[in-house]
Amino acid sequence: MTDNENASFKAALVLEDFKCQNTVYNVIENDFIKGNAIHAYLIYGQTGMGAKVLAALAAKALLCTGDRAPCDQCGACYRCNHRSHLDLVYLEPEKGRKIIGVEPVRELKKRVYRHPFEGKKNIVIIEKAENLSPEAQNALLHVLEEPPSDTVFFLIAEKTTDLLTTIVSRCRMLRLNDWDELSICRILQRCGVNDFTAIKVSQTARGNIGEAFKTAAGDVNDSVSEAVQRFFLSEMSLKSAYQLLPVFRDTKEQADLVLSQTEDILRNLLIFKANVPKLHGQFTFSDKWVALAAMLSYDAFYRLFHTVHKTRICLESYISWNIVSERFVLTIQKELGSCQG
Ligand SMILES: [Zn+2]
Repeated sequence: MTDNENASFKAALVLEDFKCQNTVYNVIENDFIKGNAIHAYLIYGQTGMGAKVLAALAAKALLCTGDRAPCDQCGACYRCNHRSHLDLVYLEPEKGRKIIGVEPVRELKKRVYRHPFEGKKNIVIIEKAENLSPEAQNALLHVLEEPPSDTVFFLIAEKTTDLLTTIVSRCRMLRLNDWDELSICRILQRCGVNDFTAIKVSQTARGNIGEAFKTAAGDVNDSVSEAVQRFFLSEMSLKSAYQLLPVFRDTKEQADLVLSQTEDILRNLLIFKANVPKLHGQFTFSDKWVALAAMLSYDAFYRLFHTVHKTRICLESYISWNIVSERFVLTIQKELGSCQG
């Protein structure tokens, strides 16, 4: 699994998922969902407990312009998801370096004392805050001592001992503990992981939601691949098209997977049609695949590839996911159905 896939899997988490974190959720509800945030939070816990995700969700909730924050429908939420919101600043080590030096903190200082560009707040997320150099921590401390009125800081750390106690004391502490098995299982099921895998993974994840996502993602890849192949080999009825829809709709990660699986199948069918056996690679062709490759015209291949391409563009836009996925599946079904008909 790539980092990208893991990241999109994690994007399926919502603030309500943190209810299993008991007292932390009280803060989430009051400070982020109801919008009563103070100036600084320190979110800490073992890697994989969801600290980064929580900071990103909290930032989105505070910048959301919709009715139920974070609504995931408004422009502000969209820009937070794509890290392009002008009032959301991430402070990370420079490329190839582990330590965050004092210079980026000085730059940040100039930024946070200015008014937000598009919303009511500036939000700063400092990932791996323990990697701030001592000088950078001192510079940050000065900001936290005289916090700009409309800025909220989120510091993320594995443990608090590498941070100046004076920084720690100026933050509201949110300690993330082990996730319970039932919560992990329910989240995985919501992400489209089948019941059997969800139960198995939640029992072996040792309370680490990040680990659970990593383990489950492999299984999801397999089930998406199976669903797409079944779709191509079915009788191309509307029923089989609608069976693929839930797989496609569940998460963006799965949408990307469905598209790349579809492309792989088309590429292989095309290679087979053009009779280049050496290029078949790992893909084993049953008689049904042979028949399908023979039936599809080169024009049909062109249109099918074009559909995949257009769907990819739509996925990046504001168009509703449900509409995009339905149009994709139905267009493919129509094209494949007509070549059989
Ligand atoms: Zn929103």
